[in-house]
Amino acid sequence: MNADKRRQIFERLRDANPNPTTELNYSTPFELLIAVLLSAQATDVGVNKATAKLFPKANTPEKMLKLGVDGIKEYIKTIGLFNAKAENVIKTCKILIEQHGGEVPEDREALEALPGVGRKTANVVLNTAFGHPTIAVDTHIFRLGNRINIAPGKTPLAVEQKLLKVVPDEFLKDAHHWLILHGRYVCTARNPKCPVCVINDLCDYKNKTMLDEKKLAQNEVSKSKKGTAKKSGQGVKA
Ligand code: SF4
Repeated sequence: MNADKRRQIFERLRDANPNPTTELNYSTPFELLIAVLLSAQATDVGVNKATAKLFPKANTPEKMLKLGVDGIKEYIKTIGLFNAKAENVIKTCKILIEQHGGEVPEDREALEALPGVGRKTANVVLNTAFGHPTIAVDTHIFRLGNRINIAPGKTPLAVEQKLLKVVPDEFLKDAHHWLILHGRYVCTARNPKCPVCVINDLCDYKNKTMLDEKKLAQNEVSKSKKGTAKKSGQGVKA
């Protein structure tokens, strides 16, 4: 894929969503760190439900320590891997207090040294809490990088490094969210929504989905039935 195509892709994603951000709810870097830590193999919706009750009780490392492992588990038991995550939250809070004055460090190495925090989580925190131009490659971005050929690579790290190299500077800070949201809602793993995709003509994917003519025709028929019924004041049977 050439540089011009890549630029156009980000221009269109930006036009469609000028201020993209995470779907995890948070109000401080600490809350974001905990939310991302909890989000491994869990949905953002599930994490938000748990943190909506957890954060009012414990929104600092000190308060989280007071709550303790068992106390945290009570709030996050609906989330996958909650036992290990509760342990990691407590260990992370201890390190934040002992080594970083109770603050989330704005530093990759320090973030990655926290229990339960890998490169992806560190990238999300650096990008979303501190505005660094990092790209956290999750399953969606990894798929998109290869499928649409914007940044092909065999591993998440290879895709991340390629993206950092080829994404124009002006799009770097938000590229991560544009790509995640596009992958989550449009360029989905199964049945990507190619017919309504804003970057359809720029994408290199060979197996784009087509409009389902049969479904389209059925919709048209049902629309016209509804229209006729409305005009004649009749209801429409499902
Ligand atoms: S055209 Fe299809 S495969 Fe290409 S980016 Fe859009 S949804 Fe994904």
